[in-house]
Amino acid sequence: MNILLLGSGGREHALAWKIASSPLTDRFVCAPGNAGIAKECELVTLDLDDHAAVVAFCNANGIDFIVVGPEAPLCAGIVDDLAAAGIKAFGPSKVAAQLEGSKGFTKDICRANRIPTAAYERFSAPEAAKAYIRKRGAPIVVKADGLAAGKGVVVAATVAEAEAAVDMMFAGGLGAAGTEVVVEEFLAGEEASFFALCDGETAIPLASAQDHKRVFDGDQGPNTGGMGAYSPAPVLTPELTRRAMDEIVLPTVHAMKAMGAPYKGALYAGLMITTDGPKLIEYNVRFGDPECQVLMLRLMSDLVPALLACCDGMLKNFDLRWYPDAALTVVMAAKGYPGSYAKGSLIEGLDAAAAVEGVEIFHAGTQADGDRILANGGRVLNVSALGRTVAEAQARAYAAVDRIRWAGGFYRRDIGFRAIARERGA
Ligand code: AMP
Repeated sequence: MNILLLGSGGREHALAWKIASSPLTDRFVCAPGNAGIAKECELVTLDLDDHAAVVAFCNANGIDFIVVGPEAPLCAGIVDDLAAAGIKAFGPSKVAAQLEGSKGFTKDICRANRIPTAAYERFSAPEAAKAYIRKRGAPIVVKADGLAAGKGVVVAATVAEAEAAVDMMFAGGLGAAGTEVVVEEFLAGEEASFFALCDGETAIPLASAQDHKRVFDGDQGPNTGGMGAYSPAPVLTPELTRRAMDEIVLPTVHAMKAMGAPYKGALYAGLMITTDGPKLIEYNVRFGDPECQVLMLRLMSDLVPALLACCDGMLKNFDLRWYPDAALTVVMAAKGYPGSYAKGSLIEGLDAAAAVEGVEIFHAGTQADGDRILANGGRVLNVSALGRTVAEAQARAYAAVDRIRWAGGFYRRDIGFRAIARERGA
């Protein structure tokens, strides 16, 4: 098959690495890609917002199958536009992508289908939201309804903080994302991510992962897109995994089908593992970044037939095989991230780092300049490794990190610390 992958981050490099290894893959192209993805396939320049241009490229190049990495083109309906042109694409339709694009949409599906999640109300004006906050008390969580690039959630410790978040959102602080607001109960517990593939009718589990969102060691400092991750998440025992499928993922897939908006694609459930079991915090309609990197390392099966089965409604009898190993990824970011940072600094030592046993380096924000690799984003590299335990995967990943010479970068030194403490305890 001729395959086009859309996206340019570490998630897409991990997907490209798996897709390139598939015997089903013939010509393989990525737009826009990065310097690491360029080692797996051809890169082309395409504006992902210009769906007509993507369709024209597919028609001109005999593309049979498109894999969409990031959420923005999914929420903008790229899969619908490709389908209308007779081109098969992996990912949900625009309506189904509301599971990520609208928090209120997802919460209403949970309520109507008794899917465990935090108690909530939706608001389109500040006064009613603030009255509800005062009635419920703190801690309480305020969320902008729409996509807000990770900035749309305020976990408020006080009523005043929650009210300020409501004012900020309705005053346009998050643009159109904040014209509607969800206020919800604070859930206590340990967070884990759970991934499934869906074909509109049913779903099969992928694997679990946990990430580290804060920028500094010890989970301190501002939130980021994720500074590292590991899989599996020890907190998601086989019993809790079964409950996450039976109580959360499958009822969602069935509800979406009943609404006439069948969900096809990767479904990423952000879960809180509470004393009452798993509860849904949020859905994302794509693979996580950097969680995808650790999932792809652990996946033994060919990815391409699984992605095709999602599109074709053929997951029912599909079986995926996984390596029993743990995987861990360390994000190397440009100094200053998640604030402002410089681009263009030189990165050296990547070949020596990739030679460490079990290590795979996925590029996120890089650009090639002849033979040199330059930083070209906030999150720049995902130094990833397999190991028999999380501790072994961590040791390998940091051995590789130590071989990378990059004056403009930084990283956390403690990715996986909770899982490793659990391993030591066990
Ligand atoms: P979201 O974008 O919905 O995943 O929220 C971002 C982060 O806010 C989550 O990863 C949680 O750490 C936190 N969060 C969101 N909703 C809740 C909640 N109801 N209770 C506690 N923490 C939450």
